[in-house]
Amino acid sequence: MGYDLTRFQGDVDEELICPICSGVLEEPLQAVACEHAFCRACITEWLSRQPTCPVDRNPITNSNLRAVPRILRNLLSRLNISCENAIYGCTLVLKLDTLATHIEECEHNPKRPLPCEKGCGFVIPKDEYKDHNCFRELRSLVHNQQQKMSELKNEINDQNLVINELKRELNLVKDFMRAMRVSNPAMRAIADQMERDEVTRWCNGLARARVTRWGGMISTPDEALQLMIKRALSESGCPPHILDDLMENCHERRWPRGLSSLETRQNNRRIYENYVCRRIPGKQAVLVLHCDNTHMSEDVMVEPGLVMIFAHGIE
Ligand SMILES: [Zn+2]
Ligand SMILES: [Zn+2]
Ligand SMILES: [Zn+2]
Ligand SMILES: [Zn+2]
Repeated sequence: MGYDLTRFQGDVDEELICPICSGVLEEPLQAVACEHAFCRACITEWLSRQPTCPVDRNPITNSNLRAVPRILRNLLSRLNISCENAIYGCTLVLKLDTLATHIEECEHNPKRPLPCEKGCGFVIPKDEYKDHNCFRELRSLVHNQQQKMSELKNEINDQNLVINELKRELNLVKDFMRAMRVSNPAMRAIADQMERDEVTRWCNGLARARVTRWGGMISTPDEALQLMIKRALSESGCPPHILDDLMENCHERRWPRGLSSLETRQNNRRIYENYVCRRIPGKQAVLVLHCDNTHMSEDVMVEPGLVMIFAHGIE
């Protein structure tokens, strides 16, 4: 729909009037053949009903429309128009091409969003401001969120059911595997090989790490730190059958002779340079896996590997 002619100051050229709505052209488009110009909305709506030019009835479709020439656009942009909020008290008259920006900030715009002055945090269109009630709005917000929370709770309950079912089935499979392993040596060999392959695959996916300060090693990590590292290991895809063993090996009470006391650790620092270490993603900790370190002596290596946590010094 074009702009109401009464909003313009001075004469408006006949060329700038839309033949469909009789207003001043808004987002004008022109028919390629006959060069008649219309508002985009007006001609689009017209063509949806009949494929002809409204002025001369020549056949046209949407694909025969193009932007109007620059000279026409310039003429339009120079017209003086009053703000559409004049009925709300805006007295401004501006060039047509600055109208859109003004409307956004026009203080007489009844839909202009205003933040509530009482601090409830809502932003309300100006014309709804006088009916705004912080308590009512907040109450309905709380209500909606409670509803959403109870929906989520139900969803979690459903998923827990599924998880429990899966757990039961998994345990059944595990028991079955264990029985097969015990009763059948060939099966045992296959299962062992599968587990070893799994460890190798996981290990190869982890980036190599370099320890720059062996002195920063934490030999008695507390529960919280251990839990954090365990979670990081699990997230990195650590095979579950070695996770607990590995975590046991993050404390000096389970370390091999070459690592077991402060004194041996100081003496052996040169040897540690030969460890192949893997980064535990996001943590100041490294994995020293047995499969990576078959070149190291039993004095400084254990199955399935060591977890070393540092205060600092991992690259
Ligand atoms: Zn029009
Ligand atoms: Zn035409
Ligand atoms: Zn205004
Ligand atoms: Zn409020």
